[in-house]
Amino acid sequence: MGVKGWAILKFLMFQSLFVSQSLEDFDFFYLVVQWPGAYCDTKRSCCYPTSGKPEADFGIHGLWPNYKDGSWPSNCDPDSQFDRSQIEDLLSSMKKNWPTLSCPSNEGFNFWEHEWEKHGTCSESVMDQHEYFENALKLKDKANLLQILTNSGINPDDGFYDLNKITNAIKDGIGFTPGLQCNKDPERNAQLYQIYICVDTSGTEFIECPVLPRGRCPSQLQFAKF
Ligand code: 5GP
Ligand code: 5GP
Repeated sequence: MGVKGWAILKFLMFQSLFVSQSLEDFDFFYLVVQWPGAYCDTKRSCCYPTSGKPEADFGIHGLWPNYKDGSWPSNCDPDSQFDRSQIEDLLSSMKKNWPTLSCPSNEGFNFWEHEWEKHGTCSESVMDQHEYFENALKLKDKANLLQILTNSGINPDDGFYDLNKITNAIKDGIGFTPGLQCNKDPERNAQLYQIYICVDTSGTEFIECPVLPRGRCPSQLQFAKF
């Protein structure tokens, strides 16, 4: 190869390096929602946000970039700080749909900041901070999980339900299999704690999960009151 050939090759190699870095460096997202009744019904307990007791509905935990092998990136950009001025127009929806339950009682900014810094900064190649929170809110709304469950006779009434029945109700409702995660109440009963739904790299469409999270749910689980 002549000098010119090498120059072209070097240019192409440099370009491919640049292009691959600017593409998304994760395979899909988990939209993770939490059942407040299960977050609060543990030995550790919970605190309601300063705006009061949240609605009895699933609340967003986060929108998490993930790899197909089950691992995930985190805290990808220390220079990109959470900036509350960027989500001012989303605040009332954030308080309703992404309430914090950690103690001590607070407005929610700590939770949102944590989620942005740990997970959101790993999806900056496809969405900015406003889009990150807006997409999560839209996805939660689109999934409409509580309605799907209650339509199938699965209610947050402290009753015990079949793991497969819950999974299938959601599968029928959104078209894709969810991951379910349980925790334990003070009597050591397993209860529905979080639901994971997989989302494409644009952060807008549900997809079949490339890998399901390990969920620790037995075949019968409680759906706690809230
Ligand atoms: P835990 O161990 O309580 O399930 O998870 C602790 C934290 O690790 C979560 O809140 C989340 O930030 C992160 N995490 C746990 N599992 C996953 C996962 O499968 N994917 C991603 N992206 N993060 C996870
Ligand atoms: P992750 O488990 O996503 O890494 O971390 C969740 C962090 O957000 C923890 O430090 C937790 O204290 C805080 N946090 C604040 N509010 C909530 C909430 O409502 N649910 C959960 N799971 N974590 C919350």
